[in-house]
Amino acid sequence: MTQKSSRPISVVTGGAGFLGSHLTDRLLSAGHDVIVIDNFITGSPQNLEHLAENIHFKFIRHDVTEYIFVPGHVDYVWHFASPASPIDYLELPIPTLKVGSLGTHNALGLAREKQATFLLASTSETYGDPLIHPQTEDYWGNVNPVGPRGVYDEAKRFAEAMTMAYHTFHGMNTKIVRIFNTYGPRMRLRDGRVVPAFISQALTNQPLTIFGDGSQTRSFCYVSDLIEGIYRLMMSQYHYPVNIGNPREMTIQEFGKEILKLIPTSSTLEFKPLPVDDPKVRQPDITRARTILDWEPQVDFEEGIARTIDYFKSKI
Ligand code: NAD
Ligand code: UDP
Repeated sequence: MTQKSSRPISVVTGGAGFLGSHLTDRLLSAGHDVIVIDNFITGSPQNLEHLAENIHFKFIRHDVTEYIFVPGHVDYVWHFASPASPIDYLELPIPTLKVGSLGTHNALGLAREKQATFLLASTSETYGDPLIHPQTEDYWGNVNPVGPRGVYDEAKRFAEAMTMAYHTFHGMNTKIVRIFNTYGPRMRLRDGRVVPAFISQALTNQPLTIFGDGSQTRSFCYVSDLIEGIYRLMMSQYHYPVNIGNPREMTIQEFGKEILKLIPTSSTLEFKPLPVDDPKVRQPDITRARTILDWEPQVDFEEGIARTIDYFKSKI
């Protein structure tokens, strides 16, 4: 990759993960040169192997909680590095806190040094177990800092505060996206999130493990829609948090029944204890994204889930 290219240069931390690898593909197709930085703690080289011969792509294996060095000019820093599935961050509480705090500080430092525009991948988990519904960006959230999910939620809340401070005090051009549950190809079969869990269970005739009574809700966004919203946010001039997600809400039990309809299987529903602090409802209010970014999800649930099932069939 040439450093004197007239193409924009993007750094993607966490680019070997589910979302980061889709973002990398999107940036390459938009004409960027892309440098991915990842330590593979939850990501995989397989997510990037199709780019091995691409001269506009470069990979640096590095833990971003340590000082980040990137030679040459950089235009955009997309900070996606962080464990993201509840199973991952429960197993990796301290790396999760460190990447949200130290990793965000280093990624902001890189962007400042390069005078680059910075985007933080934040989360709907900043709202915790929300007391308002649907969630607007003005809601401050209901998070238990010392509960099991606190390591992720508080790390992301800290990361948002750090990003705003760099905007306010250093005059940096920063963006914050609050990502709601997203699904699609390249999720890990066993990352524990409900979409890969139910699809892989149905494909292997195992019971679908519904946590609690399955009345808790989530709203699932297909990955290409999410990436488009995030790309538009980076290119906008808006500095406050923006929700990106699909407002179509369903209970987890409804989601399980949909999977049983779509996949020929002998699986049934099996009820397991609800994890501590599991949010009871979640649905994005996307008025801000609609207004500022002229963005709207395009892929409906039936189409997105069919594509995702096809992907998992090829992986089982
Ligand atoms: P993922 O686990 O697939 O990807 C995260 C990537 O970050 C992995 O490749 C991992 O190896 C890398 N990473 C973690 N710590 C690192 C470190 N210290 N140094 C270098 N690399 C490191 O998860 P994902 O679903 O792609 O999530 C990506 C981002 O989006 C995360 O910041 C997550 O919090 C956010 N997010 C995702 C969702 C979702 O539904 N997928 C929802 C809300 C927020
Ligand atoms: N869930 C479930 N069975 C599973 C995995 C998850 O019932 O095997 C539930 C989980 O308790 C939560 C919802 O599905 O209420 C979404 O979980 P996920 O881990 O995908 O993400 P979260 O939105 O909780 O971060």
